[in-house]
Amino acid sequence: MTAAFPALLPTYNRTPLSFVRGEGSWLTEASGARYLDMTSGIAVNALGHAHPALVAALTEQAQALWHVSNLYRIPAQEALAEALVAHTFADTAFFTNSGTEAAELAIKMVRKYWYEQGAERPTILTFEGAFHGRSTGAIAAAGSEKMTKGFGPLMPGFKTLPFGDHDALRAALDETVAAVMIEPVQGEGGIRPLPDACLKGLRDLCDATGALLVLDEVQCGMGRTGRLFAHEWAGITPDIMMVAKGIGGGFPLGAVLATAKAASGMGAGTHGSTYGGNPLACAVGAKVVEIITADGFLDEVRRKGAFMRQKLEGLVASHPDLFEGVRGQGLMLGLKCNRTNTDIVAAAQAAHLLTVPAADNVIRLLPPLTITEEEITEALHRLEQAANSLS
Ligand code: PLP
Repeated sequence: MTAAFPALLPTYNRTPLSFVRGEGSWLTEASGARYLDMTSGIAVNALGHAHPALVAALTEQAQALWHVSNLYRIPAQEALAEALVAHTFADTAFFTNSGTEAAELAIKMVRKYWYEQGAERPTILTFEGAFHGRSTGAIAAAGSEKMTKGFGPLMPGFKTLPFGDHDALRAALDETVAAVMIEPVQGEGGIRPLPDACLKGLRDLCDATGALLVLDEVQCGMGRTGRLFAHEWAGITPDIMMVAKGIGGGFPLGAVLATAKAASGMGAGTHGSTYGGNPLACAVGAKVVEIITADGFLDEVRRKGAFMRQKLEGLVASHPDLFEGVRGQGLMLGLKCNRTNTDIVAAAQAAHLLTVPAADNVIRLLPPLTITEEEITEALHRLEQAANSLS
């Protein structure tokens, strides 16, 4: 043991807050202090903390069966796959434990597809500001110096393009490109939505060249933008999609959804996971999907998102010294800041409101999709308090 080195690998700059309970949109410290949570574990607790239906689904499954190997059929996993196939473009699903694992499979699936076609298409195009996880594949895909520095040699086969540069995309997207991988709304990159027309144009370019379109909806999917998946706003469908975070509502669960064509290379033995698709995760995931796809749920997300956006626009107008504007969609909103974003996050925290910084000097507001209008009003009141403390 080296005394000076922390027992917990110090890869996070943690805020000195520690919560012992969560309920709905609220987190409570051991002291009893309550915080209004506009982070949802970074878009994870989609239905808030300790949603009674999720607690019941998890408890019931925990009493019946925790784990069996994927060497056996897992009915909860099959049911979740069928629900996702019924609600999306996809013909098939593979379950993972995280978004990073979903990224890894998406990359493998693309490569295997072209291998089976007998074609030399080595390159996956990705975009600056992207975030696909922290594995060696995912950091190579995102390509940012911040994430890759010191971890070389990087996995080859990725080309990172500037975000929003149509000419660069058109020039790069030729018959050597295997796939384009993109977040419809960049999360870590600072709530940067890809305009619908760009996503449509990207689909057309992929169709023209045969490249697969891989969407990373790990952060923006599962109802976050007011549609089950963000790409639905543009009226297009991908070939492969990565999902995680919200789908487990706080229980580790991710998925890769794909068309039969894109998945055609992935036969028995080509991929696997000990824990992916375990009965506990799938029981919770099925309940999350059932609730988010129930009549009226997404209408409410859109309504509350518009309400929150309008309130945020008011905040921006009254504090132009601190804020430049609002961006995002549904309940995935960002405040572009004129002052250092982490100062504002800290001031909000002092007002017992949790927000999360992102790149491009943005603070993210990702409340539970179940947040009430009263809680949104309260959140804005606390943000106003924070802003006044800095002005
Ligand atoms: N992709 C996107 C868009 C993400 O936002 C994240 C996590 O923030 C990931 C992938 C990685 O997911 P995980 O942290 O579950 O591995």
